[in-house]
Amino acid sequence: MTTDDPGFHSQSARRTTLRGVGAVAVLVGLVLVGIALVDFISAMASQDIDARPGKIWMFFVGVLLLVVGGLCLNAGRGDIRKRHTAPEAAAGSAAAVRCPSCGVTADEGARFCASCGQPFARARTS
Ligand SMILES: [Zn+2]
Repeated sequence: MTTDDPGFHSQSARRTTLRGVGAVAVLVGLVLVGIALVDFISAMASQDIDARPGKIWMFFVGVLLLVVGGLCLNAGRGDIRKRHTAPEAAAGSAAAVRCPSCGVTADEGARFCASCGQPFARARTS
């Protein structure tokens, strides 16, 4: 008997799998589309009527893989991206600290002004 992973672990594992599958699918899709394009162009370049692009199916399969891979990548990355952008978007310009000496805006975590070197007070003054 094997013990199942807790929900959290299986979720992050699924996300990692999604990202891996997505990356591979996009990569393979790009290669297939590239091969199909080269084949198509070479078939067009040669005036031989019989030289039809035989690998045109690769183009459609490649595009399909690109779409599926992109969706997988988005699904696997969605949570992380949301977590990263949410605080920044919510805080906006309010996150910046204005130097009381020269008025240059600095990052919230900055302890000294990058412009004039004025130390910022640790306690937030409003
Ligand atoms: Zn300053």
